[in-house]
Amino acid sequence: MITYAYRYKIKPTAKEIKQFEQYLSICRSVYNFAHAERKAWLESRKCQVDRCSITSEYIIPAEQPFPNYNIQAKALTKAKKKLPHLKLVNAQCLQQVLRRLDKAWTDFFRMPSRGFPRFRNANRYRSFKFPQPNTVCLDVGRVNLPSIGWFRIRQSRPYPEWFVPKQLQIVRKASGYYLVIYFESPETVPDALPGKKSIGLDAGIESFIATPTQLIKSPKFLIHKARKLKLLQRRLKNKTKGSHNWLKLQNKIARLHEKVAHARRDWHFKLAYEITSQADNIFVEDINFKSWSKGLFCKQSLDSGIGGFINTVLPYVAWKQGKFYLKVDKNGTSQECCKCHTFTGKKELGQRIHICSNPSCRHTEPRDTCSAKVIQYRGEWAVGHIVQQDKLAQNACGGDATGIVQLTLFDLVGNQRGKNLPLNCASN
Ligand SMILES: [Zn+2]
Repeated sequence: MITYAYRYKIKPTAKEIKQFEQYLSICRSVYNFAHAERKAWLESRKCQVDRCSITSEYIIPAEQPFPNYNIQAKALTKAKKKLPHLKLVNAQCLQQVLRRLDKAWTDFFRMPSRGFPRFRNANRYRSFKFPQPNTVCLDVGRVNLPSIGWFRIRQSRPYPEWFVPKQLQIVRKASGYYLVIYFESPETVPDALPGKKSIGLDAGIESFIATPTQLIKSPKFLIHKARKLKLLQRRLKNKTKGSHNWLKLQNKIARLHEKVAHARRDWHFKLAYEITSQADNIFVEDINFKSWSKGLFCKQSLDSGIGGFINTVLPYVAWKQGKFYLKVDKNGTSQECCKCHTFTGKKELGQRIHICSNPSCRHTEPRDTCSAKVIQYRGEWAVGHIVQQDKLAQNACGGDATGIVQLTLFDLVGNQRGKNLPLNCASN
């Protein structure tokens, strides 16, 4: 199954804008009501059975079940009879609202660090979804939405051929309204097999990423705009909160952020295509960027968007180009010599040059490119390239080369990491 999300800008008329806003407002009211219902149930179950809270108590009968998705969806159909304005919105669209809330709640209970779901104000509720579009919903330059009808879009690229539109979503952003179309195709694509040429990438501090041959610096997207942003935010202070001018300035700031995000994304894709065109196998470190961005590299890491690049953009582009993508063990990539693969000990952050401590090697190289080489080496191990090379060497000299293989393996195990390595290769 292949899924694509295509985004087009809508050029709405005043009437359409009014309709979109009405949709958003009704969806939001349903969301907030359903959220309040769930929250009240939860509060009412907080006290122990034999006592009441001193301050206040929610009165919900003990036998009443938790208002989950099914119960709330049923209640919604009943509510439509009493509240005719709910009928202005497509029925499935409203069900999606409840699904969205349900997801927010289950996500919270699965991972409390994500935070408890919140009530949404108009700024925090910006999209609605149609899960079942009409059979004929796409045309050149225009789209048909259930119960809204045809409206014009700016078709910046053609719809993908042989794909079926599965979901349509309207999103409001600072720069206007957008339509996101989720296309699906039942075809499956087999995973790419490892090719001959490899490249290792190291996420760096000085540079954005390092390849074995070069350091690629990131344009400082947000930092370049920081001055303008600061100016706008300073002006915001003098405005009355919620006033017309305040809103206008807020919009200006949001557009600036959007612009930065677009520039960054564009650069990421261009870089990813350049890297994937250089090699058949792409190896990266398996880093948890979330904890990374909280620590020392916070501002830089967030500005360059390194996590999004390595975890989302690069695998997607690699998949699209039919290239092999693999994450390898991240431990100690900067502590290993890229030439002789001995363990050289921990480096301080300020130490930017790698100097091998092995007296017979003494290899010197910039730290980041060296780590990239180590990552490439580990990746080649994992896909079995190194073993193949050793086998070739064995055949070439006609003798017993297992000693060499075992020695390399001993070094690697000695360095206390052999997770990704095919250890049985010594017997080959
Ligand atoms: Zn060395």
